[in-house]
Amino acid sequence: MQFEVFTLLPEIFPPYLDNSIMKRARERGLINVRVHNIRDYTHDKHHTTDDTPYGGGGGMVMKPEPVFEAIETVLGLSNSTTEITDASRTENLQENSVDSVPSVVNTIPIILLTPQGRVFNQSIAKELSQHPRIVLLCGRYEGIDERIREHLVTDEISIGDYVLTGGELPALILIDAIARLLPDVLGDPTGAEDDSHAMGLLEYPHYTRPPEFRGWKIPEVLLTGAHAKIDKWRREQALLRTLKKRPDMLAKAELTKEDKKFVESQKSKVE
Ligand code: SAH
Repeated sequence: MQFEVFTLLPEIFPPYLDNSIMKRARERGLINVRVHNIRDYTHDKHHTTDDTPYGGGGGMVMKPEPVFEAIETVLGLSNSTTEITDASRTENLQENSVDSVPSVVNTIPIILLTPQGRVFNQSIAKELSQHPRIVLLCGRYEGIDERIREHLVTDEISIGDYVLTGGELPALILIDAIARLLPDVLGDPTGAEDDSHAMGLLEYPHYTRPPEFRGWKIPEVLLTGAHAKIDKWRREQALLRTLKKRPDMLAKAELTKEDKKFVESQKSKVE
């Protein structure tokens, strides 16, 4: 899967992507992250990427021209000097699909990281992991010129209800969450299946050696080797901690009859 990142601060990305699972995934060609410096698409002497806001007020706003040119160049869309309407953008994207990646290109998500977007979660990660290529646009300062959002961006994602200084950490968060859902990225092929949020529940607790630490023993059942029993215990633990920590999730989760019975039996203890 290919990530095309557009940023004013490309240096932020390598330290994270050159380590651990992200590094291995890149080396094995499972993900490819291309980081594009928006500043490279400016043409004035000072390489201006931002300007003061119309109407006054503090802060700076990212200018439209370099952002349009950067994304259009990398995706092979029309030249940046023509004004792009939504209709011509679709056309360009379709044209592009003829000589590069067929059909899927016209659905390349151009995602703006913004605190005003839909709030990122595991199902959005799953949805995005189906695309062979996505664009991540990182804002800085007060944000971007609204025309970028209106006429270039196709999706807006927030990583939570708080405001950061830039979209770079949010972009890395998306890359990480999406990459670990791709086949072969995790060492254990079932690794992502039980994860918190994957099934609408929080994951059961984990223990490793030693079996006793400072007098604290691990749950007996985990030492029995009885898989059915262990599975049952894990399911119950997942239900229990979701009930305690995230009852909102439990209300939406798909539960079996047995799950529901267990949850009912625990409710009085939790409250
Ligand atoms: N003035 C803007 C916030 C700008 S923050 C507003 O009130 O909406 C600067 C940049 O940081 C944004 O353009 C965005 O790319 C990024 N950013 C900040 N908080 C974010 C969040 N919660 N999720 C995703 N991106 C965020």
